[in-house]
Amino acid sequence: MRVYNFAAGPSTLPLEVIKEAQAELLDFAGTGMSVMEISHRDKAYEAVVCEAEALVRELLGVPEDYAVIFVQGGASQQFAAVPLNLMHSGKADYIVTGNFAKKAWQEGQIYGEANKIGDSSDRTYTYIPDVDSLTYTDGADYVHITSNNTIFGTRYTKFPKCKAPLVADMSSEIFSRKINVADFGVIYAGAQKNLAPAGVTIVIAKRSLIQEPLAICPTMLKWKVQDENKSLYNTPPAFSIYIANLVLRNLKKNGGIAAINEINEYKAGLLYDFIDNSKLYKNNVEKEFRSIMNVPFVTGSEELDAKFVAEAKKAGLVSLKGHRIVGGMRASIYNAMPVDGVKALIEFMKKFETENR
Ligand SMILES: *Cc1c(COP(=O)(O)O)cnc(C)c1O
Repeated sequence: MRVYNFAAGPSTLPLEVIKEAQAELLDFAGTGMSVMEISHRDKAYEAVVCEAEALVRELLGVPEDYAVIFVQGGASQQFAAVPLNLMHSGKADYIVTGNFAKKAWQEGQIYGEANKIGDSSDRTYTYIPDVDSLTYTDGADYVHITSNNTIFGTRYTKFPKCKAPLVADMSSEIFSRKINVADFGVIYAGAQKNLAPAGVTIVIAKRSLIQEPLAICPTMLKWKVQDENKSLYNTPPAFSIYIANLVLRNLKKNGGIAAINEINEYKAGLLYDFIDNSKLYKNNVEKEFRSIMNVPFVTGSEELDAKFVAEAKKAGLVSLKGHRIVGGMRASIYNAMPVDGVKALIEFMKKFETENR
């Protein structure tokens, strides 16, 4: 029996995709082998990487002068790759809007002057600072943001308009809403939130920015090298890219980003409306900045929160426990979470509220 899985990552994948993968698990593309067993230099596999790249380009409208690469090491490895590829003058700006944003900033400090120019920790990361009133450092190599904050449930509703290239960690929202790639110098995202199993990270980078990585940059972290080798510099995370390709095909078939964005807004709207109108549940994020991917909420009692999570699990609604930093509950409602899953959650929340008044 399949449950509704609200995990923040690794997270739920489209059922159709899992079934497709299951159907061709023993014999991939007529090779008589599973996709996990064939050489990454095999034509049949190279076609997968090519198609995945083409689908990323098509779905996000990536301009031609941008590289689209698939790398390993998770989004956390990119916290280092960003300065190692871009920090030529030795200084960069960071806007710290959550735990991952803070980690990226801390990693940046290893390689140079990483200036924290914005910080929303004063109100436990429940908002995004006004990007128009921040002071950007003159001559900074880039400005780093985390566009959707997975743990705290916030997202940017407008992006900085800065001179330096904008670098965005979009791990927990890539492919969920329309973005203009040309507004960014670099976008990166670990796949295990909204795209594929863990193991692969997407990097989209303007080619003119990535031609001269720092001398100390490990070869594997050089985006230029990965681009020149079409993500096949070494053995890639083959299975994860394969699933990413199936997920992207599925997204295209279902109307692409515009269609899923509408569904995501609808799902999030249902849940936030219910929370706002309930007497028991509360979401503490400033309304303007509420994420449509990660919805944290609390009852106000730790004991009741624990009871909620345990009883929800029995009802087939799993992984609703909030991140250990914030406690309470969190419903991650990524692209692959069906509307019916959100409706089932709301029904359960109503029942729980009635029983625990
Ligand atoms: C999950 C997450 C990360 C960390 O990803 P890993 O792939 O585990 O390194 C970084 N940034 C954001 C926004 C995330 O949601």
